[in-house]
Amino acid sequence: MKQTVQMDKIQASMRRGVITLEGFLGTDTRKLVDILIDDDAEVRRLGMSHEAIARRMLELKQAGEAGLGEFVTVGEQLEVKVDAVRGKLPCPFGDPGIFGKVNTTVRNKKTKKEVTYTDLHIHMIWAHGFYEGKGSRFRLEPAELIDILEVKRDE
Ligand SMILES: [Zn+2]
Repeated sequence: MKQTVQMDKIQASMRRGVITLEGFLGTDTRKLVDILIDDDAEVRRLGMSHEAIARRMLELKQAGEAGLGEFVTVGEQLEVKVDAVRGKLPCPFGDPGIFGKVNTTVRNKKTKKEVTYTDLHIHMIWAHGFYEGKGSRFRLEPAELIDILEVKRDE
């Protein structure tokens, strides 16, 4: 697949200081299309889908909202905390919709690892298969998400 002009525009909006101060690309110098292709291949290799990962992220966020900003236990191994800060962000892919700055933190008691993600992450993974560029402070590694969130394969 080749990068389209449209994707060049999207990639430009992902740079530092356009939509967010930090941007979405980190130190990644690859074309957006290649970032998407590589993560898609990784997710397939792990026997998963972006939808399954995003669905689990959403499910845990919804379960964690009961804690009103404190950690709550979800299932056997997980603790989830959801807190919101002021402000909203648009999706850099340009589709309609605006996302509250809601942070969901999931701790896995078994692996002792944790990950924090936003509502925009859930949307970008679900709709675009985008986990941010390598070296971005907010990059989510598909394998880590699957591991920490205990994502189940689609039946
Ligand atoms: Zn979008």
